[in-house]
Amino acid sequence: MKRRQFVRNASLTLAGGALVTGCASGETGTAAAVQTRPRVNWRLTSSFPRSLDTIYGAAEVLANRVAELTDGRFTIRVFPAGELVPYNQVLETVQKGTVQMGHSASYYFTGLNPALAFDTTVPFGLNARQLNAWFYHGEGKNLMRGLFADFNIINLPGGNTGVQMGGWFRERVDSLSDFRGLKMRIPGFGGQVMSELGVNVQVLAGGEIYPALERGVIDAAEWAGPYDDEKLGFHQIAKNYYYPGWWEPGAGLSFYINTDAWESLPADYKAALEAAAAEANVDMFASYDAKNPVALSRLVDEEDVSMRPFSEDVMNRAREITFDILASEAAADPAYRRIWDSYNAWRKASNRWLRTSENTYASFAFNREI
Ligand code: CA
Repeated sequence: MKRRQFVRNASLTLAGGALVTGCASGETGTAAAVQTRPRVNWRLTSSFPRSLDTIYGAAEVLANRVAELTDGRFTIRVFPAGELVPYNQVLETVQKGTVQMGHSASYYFTGLNPALAFDTTVPFGLNARQLNAWFYHGEGKNLMRGLFADFNIINLPGGNTGVQMGGWFRERVDSLSDFRGLKMRIPGFGGQVMSELGVNVQVLAGGEIYPALERGVIDAAEWAGPYDDEKLGFHQIAKNYYYPGWWEPGAGLSFYINTDAWESLPADYKAALEAAAAEANVDMFASYDAKNPVALSRLVDEEDVSMRPFSEDVMNRAREITFDILASEAAADPAYRRIWDSYNAWRKASNRWLRTSENTYASFAFNREI
């Protein structure tokens, strides 16, 4: 028996023994402590379907770990998108306390407050690693908590996709003029930038994209990365797979907790929940990093997909448009500006460091492994 397992079993036995003693002799010592741990049963509504197992799975990683850490006394039941509420009603459902928790991408809710985009990703913004650094060790946590306080929610990072792919195009899009009149499924801030490039932007839910692409209603579509995209089957229709997804350089997911529910938890359950969320945050990113290379190889080697980088012209123009949009949002709203200033200063300092270290190493080493 491994040591950890032995210790766990031993402590379970001790707890069980103490309970029996406690029943016989009244509430004393360990018995009282064990008996007073409350049973808490929560529900979590996800913005994602079960079929997208990596992104949906983060909520299950969290729930399983919380149960383990509390000896099964604090349980969280996870519901996929649509079972309790649609994917885009997760925030308000947690806000009202209909369910205690949610798992979502905050940029789905920029209609409520545009600054919520910074909790997920903005074009040419922080990557996963930089976003975690800003949240855990910069001002990100306080600034985002300030935003979510308006919605009666405590937020915790809950996974990241890493740099996404640019998506699937029936025809090549090598120059800026190729984007004019193109019908593309791309939501949010990225869609706003594409629209400025002349793209006819379409917003379709996950399940609607494939039929629209197949029927020629759209010419191009983006989703996330090789592992998830392969499941949705876009490669069967559009063979040009562009990269990088400059509009989502590290899409961060978040766990939402209703503030009243959070306040009702004992301190050790709060600690268990925070630890489990941090584990789920790391686990999703690692899981995508494990699955995407395998899916990419299948797509390229077995499905005849053509990998194509966006041109410098396209990237540069998209970047200019992005920073214009960010500046005008900041000029219109001091609260938005406060967050953008912090995020932007972090981006610049971090880019300088990672350009020196990570980027120099990666551009040498990764390019020799083709
Ligand atoms: Ca995407």
